[in-house]
Amino acid sequence: MNKFLSSLADGLEPYVPGEQPKDKKYIKLNTNESPYGPSPKVLEVIKIQATEDLRLYPDPKSTVLLKAASDFYDLPEEMIFAGNGSDEVLAFAFAAFYSGKKLVFPEVTYSFYPVYCNLFDIEYEEIPMGKNLVINTYLMKSAGCGIVFPNPNAPTGEMIELDNIRAILESNPDNVVLVDEAYIDFGGISCIKLVEEYENLLVVQTFSKSRSLAGMRIGLAFGSKQLIDGLNRVKNSFNSYPLDRLAQYAGVAALEDNEYYIEMQSKIVTTREKTVTELERMGFGILNSCANFIFASHNKVQAVDIYQKLKDNNVLVRYFNKPGIENYVRITIGTDKQMKILFQNLEKILEG
Ligand code: PMP
Repeated sequence: MNKFLSSLADGLEPYVPGEQPKDKKYIKLNTNESPYGPSPKVLEVIKIQATEDLRLYPDPKSTVLLKAASDFYDLPEEMIFAGNGSDEVLAFAFAAFYSGKKLVFPEVTYSFYPVYCNLFDIEYEEIPMGKNLVINTYLMKSAGCGIVFPNPNAPTGEMIELDNIRAILESNPDNVVLVDEAYIDFGGISCIKLVEEYENLLVVQTFSKSRSLAGMRIGLAFGSKQLIDGLNRVKNSFNSYPLDRLAQYAGVAALEDNEYYIEMQSKIVTTREKTVTELERMGFGILNSCANFIFASHNKVQAVDIYQKLKDNNVLVRYFNKPGIENYVRITIGTDKQMKILFQNLEKILEG
């Protein structure tokens, strides 16, 4: 017991992120980062912006980034919000729209959601998964309260179709439906444009995965002016400057060099398909993934052993010790070369 903790801090069960070892010996396939660096134009802009102006506070509104995002997504700036990584954007959204209310999300999903619920006093219910860990959208339609889900889902990679999202929005017109599109650029269809039709839809995206900028911390939200106003109220009650000067300009450059990122994303999708074929050949069962990771299980070797033996051989994947998914490992898609090393290690593990 820590005598200095307030009852709030004492009652928290913090999120545990995937390991970030200092030692570069590991092949990191555990936190869904991109195996490819940011666009060279982004790196150039960061250098240009690293001047003595860093003594000044950054623009609290991230105006340059909102303007670039407005051009890129073809939405008015008042319908866009920028935060310090999408985790922060999600935290602000949970505080703004669900605090003191009720929320549902899938039983197998991003494990930060229950942590925010605990922090912001949100009563939540987990929607049981259907067969093959598919999200039960039928139960979401009848939720009658706030709803959040990643699309594609994490850690399963499964995608919910646009028509189904429309149905969820239409059956819950008085509740905010938050769609977390952290992995949307790896083959999914975004519902961003639906924010013009549905004032209860908030879409959150990140630059951490498909734009190779996890280290820069850039997240965006898209929604009706009412919802964006809610996010700004929370942000301005917490931290006026969530995005530093370098991040604001790096974000602009990333949006401007979309061609580079489309190429990287398609390389990752090609490697994902090759990885699925190879792992299926080894006897793995793999859920259908539209993300930059796959969720895999083997009926002969326990997932926890696969995780540990890979780690012993310097390959890190993610293992969640949670009922229902305890026999799966989540594997981030790396370069072809990294995946080849993964395959060689898996072959050895399966041979026993
Ligand atoms: N949503 C989902 C579903 C995620 O997996 C992650 C990454 N852990 C995030 C949001 C947060 O990403 P970031 O804060 O780096 O933008």
